Parts: sequence; structure tokens; C-alpha cells
Amino acid sequence: MVSKKVDISKLRESEKKYGKSHNRFTTEEVPKYSFPENTMSSRTVYQLIHDELNLDGNPDLNLATFVTTWMDPEADRLIMENLHKNFIDHFEYPQVNNIEERIVNILANLFNVPDESDFIGTSTIGSSEAIMLGLLAHKWNWRQERISKGLPHDKPNVVFGGDTHVSWDKFARYFDVEPRIIPIAKDHFTIKAEDVLKEVDENTIAVGVVLGTTFTGEFDPVKEINDLLVKLKKEKGIDVPIHVDAASAGFITPFFEPGFEWDFRLEQVGSINTSGHKFGLVYPGLGWLIFRHQKLLPEELKFYVNYLGDEMPTYTLNFSEGSSMIIAQYFNIMHLGKRGYEQIVDKMMGNASYLASRLQESGEFQVTNTTRHIPVVTFTFSREEDFTLFDLSYRVRERGWIVPAYSLPPHAENVTVMRVVVRENFTRDLVDIFVDDLLNAKKALRGGSIKTSQRSAREGHPVS
Ligand SMILES: *Cc1c(COP(=O)(O)O)cnc(C)c1O
Repeated sequence: MVSKKVDISKLRESEKKYGKSHNRFTTEEVPKYSFPENTMSSRTVYQLIHDELNLDGNPDLNLATFVTTWMDPEADRLIMENLHKNFIDHFEYPQVNNIEERIVNILANLFNVPDESDFIGTSTIGSSEAIMLGLLAHKWNWRQERISKGLPHDKPNVVFGGDTHVSWDKFARYFDVEPRIIPIAKDHFTIKAEDVLKEVDENTIAVGVVLGTTFTGEFDPVKEINDLLVKLKKEKGIDVPIHVDAASAGFITPFFEPGFEWDFRLEQVGSINTSGHKFGLVYPGLGWLIFRHQKLLPEELKFYVNYLGDEMPTYTLNFSEGSSMIIAQYFNIMHLGKRGYEQIVDKMMGNASYLASRLQESGEFQVTNTTRHIPVVTFTFSREEDFTLFDLSYRVRERGWIVPAYSLPPHAENVTVMRVVVRENFTRDLVDIFVDDLLNAKKALRGGSIKTSQRSAREGHPVS
């Protein structure tokens, strides 16, 4: 962090001279690094911050993110109406708490819990918190089991692939569990079931399975991993739960591929997380965690607080939390229903396929993710160029598009891809404009001519 002193006395002087609401000829520095001594009018401050934030990218053109950037105006209204309610104040705001419980029920059913009266779950800030809490419960259960058998319990490990999100590595480090990371397969960028089994032993608290991976959107082979773990349980008595990281697929697969078995229909799946703020179609930050059975969440990890009124159990890392996104999730569920989510998912998947085919047909790009379970398209150049995908990413930014280029995890680290997450507001029309812009940008990098309308001020300068 930088620190710098700024004198705001001039700003205040001109406020005095021209009135508090003036903001037409502001020529003074604004306080950035130290707490200002005095007040400034809310209008001036609003304008200053508003103008500065214009430098941020346009969220609607941000093809990098999985996270929702558009909601219905009525959802926006409910969000604004409830911004001042702290979710943790269950006693004061019992209806928000009821709504959260309803959503936990709805998701448990959507994920096919075997017993509709025996599951437990919670809302979280996002999938990261949900993953930490899920794995923490598994760690606890594993330790209790070891203690009860008089066995050592000082070397827990957690098995997951190199294709997982960074939150898995975070869990391992923060909660002191050995991470056993399986390298991804070179040919299809996910892990193989038999490789998982090689790492599992009596000290394994859980196996992580990702649907779909942040890198290519593909699915780890959840059913095969489940079947091998069932076999292990039967043959050796080692019972290892699966935690499914369905951050992105949790609100896609139940609608797009309802027959696909990935959830509590699989015997070893003990817990599932999903991000409400991804394809749950809610703004950040909202996640969900569901346990297959109540007994999987140890009593010792629940905290009962009574100083806000009633005795209420909580299982979260954070205490205070906003209520609005939980309410917004309920809005979507009620408003869209299964049909609505199905239609939106179909539309996104359709636009993703369209994007993939346009890229492929251009002859300029090679689409690299072969199976498509979630609306994510990754691609690379169809042949070697003397510029990189990073250059291209930088170049299309001139048109406002934010689209990342990155290299894949170990064992495929020499593969660089670009990734587009096709969200609800990335319509077919925008797909066409985007692909044209991408092709133009590539041509420009190659030194060819581009359409005048797209010639930018940087034209003629080398792009590194
Ligand atoms: C996004 C994502 C996460 C992290 O989720 P947040 O909701 O951003 O905390 C974890 N795992 C996967 C597979 C993801 O896609």
C-alpha cells in the first residue's frame, strides 16, 4: 500500500466559494491516503467517486466472470429495500431466516437428498466459505472417528485435482490439512478416477470433485470416483465422503441434464456447495452448502447465540452478513421456477455452442473444451502466431471486452487458453459482435488492415 498526504483545504475552500453542490470545475486533489479532517458535501463526494469508478470495466462486457451482473428490476428493488438488515439477527428478522431455510430445503431437494427430513445446510458468502465449512465438518468427523477407535489423528489429508479452485488450497493451508493434489490429465484437463484412489487412505477426510472446473468448465468424473470409493468402503472399510464443488454447475446441471447423476443420488456424496451468485443468477456474494445428513455437521461446530434474542444455531465463518442476496435468491426461485431456469440455461448453452462454432469456423481459433456441461468456451489460436493470446486479450479490451487468457494447471501448463463465460446477458447478437471484434483484433495484431470504425487511438503503436 502507498501512503501519501493530500491537502484538501483547497477543495473545501472552493466548496465555500461556489457552494456545496458545485462540481463542475473541480481542480483540487481528493483525499486518498489519510482520513480527511473535515466534511465535504455528499453531492461532491458522490460525483467524485462516481466519476472515478467509470474507469472500471463494464460488467456486462466482462466475459471473464461467472458472477451475475444483471437481475430483474424487481429483484433490484427487493435488494435495496433490505440492504439494512443484518442476516445474523435472526430474532429481529425472522422472515429472512425463514426464507434462508426454505432455500436450503429447495436446494436439498433439487440435489436429491435421500431423506427429505434429514439434511442440513446454510447460506454463505460464496462457494469459498461453503467449501471451507464443508471440509471442516469432514475433518472433524474424521478426527472423532479416529479418536473413538484410539487411532492417531494428527495427519489428515484431503484429495483433490489440480483443476480445483484456489479455495481448496486455501482450506488445506488455513485448516492445516495435507493437500494431495492429483495432476490433471493432459488430454482432457480433468482428473481421472483411478488416480484419485491412489491418493486416498485412512487419513483422508474427503475427496474433492469439481463440476465444472474454473479452467475449462469440464467435469471431474464424479460417478466413477463415487463408485471406486464405494468399492473401497466395502472392501477395506475406509469410508471417505465426497465434497462436490458445484460452484458453477449446481444451478445448471439439475436443469440442463436432469438425468446426470452427480449429487446426493451418489452414495459417497456427503456435501455440496454452489454459488448463488453464479448461475443462481444473484449478485455477489452468496453461496450455499448442503449436507446429505444432519449428523455430518457435528454438534460441536454449531454455535448457539442468544444475545440477539432467541437461541439460534449458526455455522458460518463470518458473523454479520447482508440479507439482500438471500432474498434475491428466493425471488429468482419463485419468479423463474424450474421452467424459467431451464429456459435461461438452454439459452446460455445455445449461445455457448454458437460462440464455439463461430470461433471454430473462422479458421483462426481452436476450441479446446470438448464436453460442454456449463456455458463456458475455451479456445486458443488454430496455429502458431508471433503474438500471444495475452496480446489478443489486451487488444480486444480496446472495444470494452474483458476476456482473460491464462495457462492451464500443471501437466498442461504449456497450454494457454482464452475463456468466455456465456452468461444470461451475453446474447447471440453480442456473440456476433464479440467474434467480429476478436477477428479484427487478431488481424490488427498481424499487421493487416482493420475497419476504420474500429481503429483506435493506439493504432500504429506496437502492442506488447
Ligand atoms: C467460483 C468458484 C469457486 C469460488 O466460489 P466463490 O463463490 O467465488 O467463493 C470455487 N470453486 C469453483 C469450481 C468455482 O467456479
